[in-house]
Amino acid sequence: MDLQGKHVVITGGGRGIGAAIADSLSSAGAKVTIMGRNMARLEDKVQALRGGLAVHCDVTDEMSVAKAFALAVEGHGPVDILVNNAGAAISLPFRKMTKADFQSMLEVNLTGPFLCIQAVLQGMIDKGAGRIINIASTAALKGYRYVTAYSAAKHGVLGLTRSLAVEVAGNGVTVNAVCPGFTETDITRNALKNIMAKTNRTKEQALAELVRHNPQKSLIQPEEVAATVLWLCSEEAASITGQAIAVAGNEVMQGI
Ligand code: NDP
Repeated sequence: MDLQGKHVVITGGGRGIGAAIADSLSSAGAKVTIMGRNMARLEDKVQALRGGLAVHCDVTDEMSVAKAFALAVEGHGPVDILVNNAGAAISLPFRKMTKADFQSMLEVNLTGPFLCIQAVLQGMIDKGAGRIINIASTAALKGYRYVTAYSAAKHGVLGLTRSLAVEVAGNGVTVNAVCPGFTETDITRNALKNIMAKTNRTKEQALAELVRHNPQKSLIQPEEVAATVLWLCSEEAASITGQAIAVAGNEVMQGI
């Protein structure tokens, strides 16, 4: 795959799935800009990539997003590919959830992608080409206990993806969602700790609980998600738009 000269912005590119996507797209020759709040981690990642741009960005803050994308464009030119990967998950029974908890999940997981897309879309339309890839979740396709707010936000990401894909279909811009199952990153490590602390289970038992619904009974690796993103960036994926692609060992099937 040749992404030589393409400018890719990955939000939350300093660790986890975002870092794996940065590795993959950078190896394909893209000019990578990674964004997040932890600059030290982003700088380390840029060093490891041997190139790229680290830019501070809090995706929940409109001003921060505007500044970050202005810096990205100044450094690497107009954005060809946006990967909305930054996200966070809290796990709480619905009856204990406050409005602030709910709102915080919507802001980081749904408003964040909205703001970042707004920052790049006109440039893509002007160019007549662009790729927007939203990292959603299997929680965008089905429900899980204790993650109502996260799941509501991720279902929202899918609605945004599907509707925007239709809106820009004639402009050379594709918009897709990638929906990983439980993936081996900090989010899942924290979920494991949470289950162990709250239910007195061992790590093995907690892991078994998380992968219970995945027929393959294993965690997804960040590199598997990155490979799907890389494919969506290819010329050959030009007709793939408005899709929700599950990377989840057949945990979910579309339409059920
Ligand atoms: P991590 O917790 O490892 O990484 C989250 C990333 O998001 C970090 O790079 C963090 O950067 C960034 N981030 C969080 N909040 C903000 C913010 N307000 N502004 C900018 N960046 C932010 O998570 P994963 O790698 O696992 O998750 C990546 C994406 O994949 C998320 O959207 C998540 O919902 C989704 N996903 C994850 C699954 C999993 O099981 N791990 C399964 C399905 C989907 P920093 O701290 O520097 O701001």
